[in-house]
Formats: sequence, C-alpha cells, structure tokens
Amino acid sequence: MSLKTYWSKRNFSTTPEPKGELLKTRRHRFVVQSHYAKHFHQDFRLEMEGVLKSWAVPKGVPEKVGKKVLALSVEDHPIDYLNFSGIIPKGLYGAGRVEVFDKGKYELIEKAENRIVFKLKGKKLKGEYTLLKFKKPNQWLLFKIK
Ligand code: MN
Repeated sequence: MSLKTYWSKRNFSTTPEPKGELLKTRRHRFVVQSHYAKHFHQDFRLEMEGVLKSWAVPKGVPEKVGKKVLALSVEDHPIDYLNFSGIIPKGLYGAGRVEVFDKGKYELIEKAENRIVFKLKGKKLKGEYTLLKFKKPNQWLLFKIK
C-alpha cells in the first residue's frame, strides 16, 4: 500500500484535493464520487489497509442487479479522499467537478487477488457486489449480485 503514485500525479499547491497520508485504519468505509471530468465517470473507493482502493467506473456504479460495468483500477487514494468534493481546476490532473454521490460502510465478504465481494451499506447503494479482475491490467467487472 502506497500513496506515491497519488502524490506524484498532483501538485498540492494547486489542487484542492487532500495530500493525505498512509493511515493504519481498519475501518471499512466506501465512497462513490461523481466526477465531471473530460469524460464523466464515477470513482468507486473502498477503504482497505490504510488507503482507498480506487476504480474509475465510466458507466457509473450499478444500482440494479444484472447490470455489469467496466471498472478501471487507478492509484490508491488517501483516506481523506472519503470526504472530498470540489472543483479540480482546468489543466490539472482530473480537472472537473467532484461530488460525493454516496458513502457509507461496507462489509467485506471475500477478497482474493482477482475477486472482491462486499456488501455496501450506503444511502443509495445497498446490497452485495462483486469486482472481478480481467486478465488485462487494471480492468475489472463490477456488478451487483443481490
Ligand atoms: Mn475520477
């Protein structure tokens, strides 16, 4: 777990995003942020081992069972990002407005190298989900099971 990539992509004197730090949290929180970047997507983040494991979801996190969407894993984000909303200025990495769509706790049901199963307990997103890793790097399938 490292935030080196996160830090290397940003200049914290210009971005409103948190610099953050590696924390030894053992809580299980999640956030979904709507990101009005050049291409709209939602960012899905699960608190794990002191960072937020993160995926960009171009079609948004599905709210119904049966819809399968692509989720692209991106660099780990700091825990402080759970509460981030704001406008990343033009010209910067990830430029555009970020809004919290939903957040809450989750229950980890299964975690393997290529598969994460969890139950979201948000206000909008509730239920069991699976993230399945493809063979291609960074590509995952995200869907709701029940
Ligand atoms: Mn994003």
